[in-house]
Amino acid sequence: MKSAIHPESLMMTYGYKPELSEGAVKPPIFQTSTFVFKTAEEGKAFFEIAYGLRAKKKNEELGLIYSRINNPNLEILEDRLCLWDKAEKCAVFESGMSAISTVLLEFLKPGNLLLYSLPVYGGTDHFINHFLKNIGVESIGFRPDQSKEEIIKMVEDSGKAHKLSLVYIETPANPTNELIDIEMCREIADYFETPEQSVHLATDNTYMGPLWSHPLQLGADLVIYSATKYIGGHSDLIAGAVLGNTEVIGRVKTLRTFLGNMASPHTCWLLLRSLETLKVRMEQQAKNAQEIAHFLTQHPNISKVHYLGCLDKSSKSYEVYKRQYTSPGAMIAFEIKGGEKEAFQFLNQLKLIKLAVSLGSTESLIQHPATMTHTGLCPDLKAKIGITSGLIRLSVGVENYEDLISDINNALNKINTPKNVLATPV
Ligand SMILES: *Cc1c(COP(=O)(O)O)cnc(C)c1O
Repeated sequence: MKSAIHPESLMMTYGYKPELSEGAVKPPIFQTSTFVFKTAEEGKAFFEIAYGLRAKKKNEELGLIYSRINNPNLEILEDRLCLWDKAEKCAVFESGMSAISTVLLEFLKPGNLLLYSLPVYGGTDHFINHFLKNIGVESIGFRPDQSKEEIIKMVEDSGKAHKLSLVYIETPANPTNELIDIEMCREIADYFETPEQSVHLATDNTYMGPLWSHPLQLGADLVIYSATKYIGGHSDLIAGAVLGNTEVIGRVKTLRTFLGNMASPHTCWLLLRSLETLKVRMEQQAKNAQEIAHFLTQHPNISKVHYLGCLDKSSKSYEVYKRQYTSPGAMIAFEIKGGEKEAFQFLNQLKLIKLAVSLGSTESLIQHPATMTHTGLCPDLKAKIGITSGLIRLSVGVENYEDLISDINNALNKINTPKNVLATPV
């Protein structure tokens, strides 16, 4: 029976046996490429399991072979990450993009159709619309405001419905916190599944992080993270993770072995350290975000705040929010009155908050989606999903929120033209 102890209580010890490492209270970095077999018979047995030549015997574990296949730091990290999402298995990668591209390559073959939510992370979008397109994988994107019936009709109208093999979604969507209904996507996947063609559902949960949303419990087959963000949380490493049941993660890990894009022992060790404080960091970040969002909604130079704690209680989004999330998280987007000029004046005046892309870190990070993370989107899609020239994205860190608010307030009040903007007769 799985223990009922909370994940945050297990993050310092789970999956590590000090007696195997001279009693060290923390796992050492296993900076080694290869592992010594006790006997030739043992080496043979490890390879039989690694290559799937025979089933594991009762209580038989895959022994350590070579650090592209397994390494203690990688294995301990994967075991601990499973606890947050209540997953059977996890595979850790050297980046979020390697996690995403490996999943897409494993579950899509030339001739298959991919259904995905708009907008997705820029790198994911590029991989779908350039690399996958070139190898004969077609794709259809849908927007958060489209209904289940509309999405099903789009897939049917493509004439390729029988080729659908993966539904890939990102929710909350970056940068405006639009929500995609995971259970609805499960129903769409099931609707198109046939005995010949299974349809998997993958969810990029990077934007909310692993604490307050568990897509596997809502019907996703795979949940993906850029561990560079909340999980790493200190802006000092790049990594990714995929979680799911034994069968799907077995497939993902096999492809990982041959692409060779697993995380290094040192990166895994840093992530183990990060995981110990994941909950306290994220709780502080969410608390700060709530204070900042409240401040922003009151400020005269701000026209709109996209924050999950501010949803209209009678909206469809609020209903989805209640089913999928237990906290509004720490990502806020807001519109400065005016446009790019006013937005840049604001950004250039900030002292404490750092002007940089990425998110989920201990320090607050701010950027301008229209000209930075989302600059590659076509103007039509930008307009449809609310990426205006005055939009700012803020990832709230663990600083004292009064200092953050004071930094934002000073910068907002230094914008030159808002009074003119406000005073312009309509
Ligand atoms: C950052 C990010 C990625 C890519 O992750 P990397 O670790 O930079 O490769 C994918 N999806 C989302 C939502 C992200 O924010």
